[in-house]
Amino acid sequence: MRISDVLRIKGDRVVTVTPDTDVAGLLRVLAEHGIGAVVVSPDGTAIAGIVSERDVVRAIAARGADVLTEPVTRIATSSVRTVTPEVSLEDVERLMTDGRFRHVPVLVNGALGGVVSIGDVVKNRIDELESERSELAGYITGERP
Ligand code: AMP
Repeated sequence: MRISDVLRIKGDRVVTVTPDTDVAGLLRVLAEHGIGAVVVSPDGTAIAGIVSERDVVRAIAARGADVLTEPVTRIATSSVRTVTPEVSLEDVERLMTDGRFRHVPVLVNGALGGVVSIGDVVKNRIDELESERSELAGYITGERP
């Protein structure tokens, strides 16, 4: 299964915040959409960074609640790892595990075209492995799944 298949299932909607959004505003966006990270983008298509709840936790632990009035760019990660739609789920899984992050923006023709989270990867990998397993069981037993 490829990233394009995941986006077909979950949709290509991407939640972004502009670089001048403050951290309190970021937290409202995360809570409102029930998500753990957003892409920082001036226009909704160019990627200026990525910021997750983990960045907020680390910054508050280090500098206290004053962080809430700082712009998100102060705490965001600016060198963002991205994937393209033809990348396999297995490769994204490895990218997330090695990089220790749970969100990867998808670039479609050079512009932001989706975000895949570790939840999407795990769900789709389980579905994929389950269908492979039942095909193999059918092959062994001679029964069609
Ligand atoms: P996460 O596990 O996605 O909450 O993110 C953990 C850390 O990795 C945070 O510092 C994020 O800003 C950063 N991060 C998240 N996604 C990416 C990504 N695709 N590329 C680079 N850094 C990322």
